[in-house]
Amino acid sequence: MTNNNLTTSWGAPVGDNQNSLTAGPRGPVLIQDVHLLEKLAHFNRERVPERVVHAKGAGAHGYFEVTNDLSKYTKAAFLNTVGKRTPMFARFSTVAGELGSSDTVRDPRGFALKFYTEEGNYDLVGNNTPIFFIRDAIKFPDFIHTQKRHPQTHLKSPNAVWDFWSLSPESLHQVSILMSDRGIPATLRHMHGFGSHTFKWVNAEGQAVWVKYHFKTEQGIKNLNTELAAKLAADNPDYHTEDLFNAIDQGDFPVWKLHVQIMPLADANTYRFDPFDVTKVWSQKDYPLIEVGRMVLDRNPDNYFAEVEQATFSPGSFVPGVEASPDKMLQGRLFAYGDAHRYRVGANHNALPINCPHAKVNNNQRDGLMRPDNNGGGSVYYEPNSYGGATESPKHQPVAFEVSGQADSVAYDEADHYSQAGDLYRLLSEDERTRLVQNIVGAMTPVDKDEIKLRQIGHFYKADPEYGQRIADGLGLYVPEL
Ligand code: NDP
Repeated sequence: MTNNNLTTSWGAPVGDNQNSLTAGPRGPVLIQDVHLLEKLAHFNRERVPERVVHAKGAGAHGYFEVTNDLSKYTKAAFLNTVGKRTPMFARFSTVAGELGSSDTVRDPRGFALKFYTEEGNYDLVGNNTPIFFIRDAIKFPDFIHTQKRHPQTHLKSPNAVWDFWSLSPESLHQVSILMSDRGIPATLRHMHGFGSHTFKWVNAEGQAVWVKYHFKTEQGIKNLNTELAAKLAADNPDYHTEDLFNAIDQGDFPVWKLHVQIMPLADANTYRFDPFDVTKVWSQKDYPLIEVGRMVLDRNPDNYFAEVEQATFSPGSFVPGVEASPDKMLQGRLFAYGDAHRYRVGANHNALPINCPHAKVNNNQRDGLMRPDNNGGGSVYYEPNSYGGATESPKHQPVAFEVSGQADSVAYDEADHYSQAGDLYRLLSEDERTRLVQNIVGAMTPVDKDEIKLRQIGHFYKADPEYGQRIADGLGLYVPEL
């Protein structure tokens, strides 16, 4: 017979889990009831801080399978053999809402992936959009303040949102995607994913190229219209979370095909704009998509907190063959994500089962709060050493790269925030344009200063005069003199 006794957290059987220990039937509760004390105290500590951004999310396990050998571009072992499968974990999320907020809001969706490769974990922490609102991490805390709650009213603030965007015109392209139909995906399965940043791939000969990742949904793009999304947000705030869980539970496994764009290293100096600027895409006419493989999500988490809430992704978790680019937004994220996890989950977040690499970890980090493994046992704990401890492997050193110029706080050297937002507007059908304009007009109407609205209309106008004019008409304003 299996022993199914309820136990305390130290494993001792519990005699009574319904009634506290009291001094007589009506007497006060005794502090001697250590099971009660432990139960209440642990309950008080059930939450870790929610993520400042991307708090609400859903996750699933799966695998990545290589369908095209790109070893001429990267030595990353998990990408090098057609048919090779690498276990993965994915987490999708909204950005601005809190842990209990509604899934079907207009917001970018986080698209965070963890590949448990034989050379360590590779994390790709992207979004369902190929670009971002800003291109220097120094603006990130200000930007997110405008997306979160006002410090006095504790309400969302359209004034702050549009004030910041209108004063940061590099956001225009991403604002246009966000306000288009794709700003509210029908489900998490019906959206694309992008690495967004430019990364560097390095092959076995040490030759490098620049790379961008595109995960195309095989379920097809599907979106929710604004009215249905609002209804779902009220009726079933967990609509996307439920859909992903149920689809996988029923064996309807979502699939994304990974493509990359490859740019020769030297092109970065001559391309018509800075290819490290994350507010811009590389035209697929210049750098066509090349197939790499497919991602399949086929297993739900057993436990939401252990796997989804405690999952920590960092754009700095590279494996040999993948390196950083000078993208200033990426550079800031290389620090910020690991730091957020150390604060939120702890210094040993990488040792938790969901984050623990399948590859053997062999470093000299020891101790710290909540060390869940054997802490390296009695093995050598410093390097260099004379006792056969782990040694560095120079062949895995990132490739050397040239830098030049004076150290300074320098803006990106071009100010065309408009062409690509205009290209997007022009590729939309008339119906899509109408909904885009309606969404923007609806979102800008509550802004209380005409100055902010006019400044933003000017940006839309510069992207495409028709785009700006239709928004001005919708808001009952004139296009400002440009
Ligand atoms: P292309 O015609 O080669 O590519 C157009 C891209 O736009 C496709 O990836 C397509 O994705 C995507 N797209 C189509 N409809 C929408 C929509 N309603 N919302 C968002 N994306 C959409 O042209 P370019 O590469 O020169 O890019 C033109 C514009 O397309 C860009 O300014 C950018 O706004 C947008 N775009 C470009 C991407 C890129 O990597 N170049 C990626 C995504 C958008 P799909 O096949 O899924 O329809």
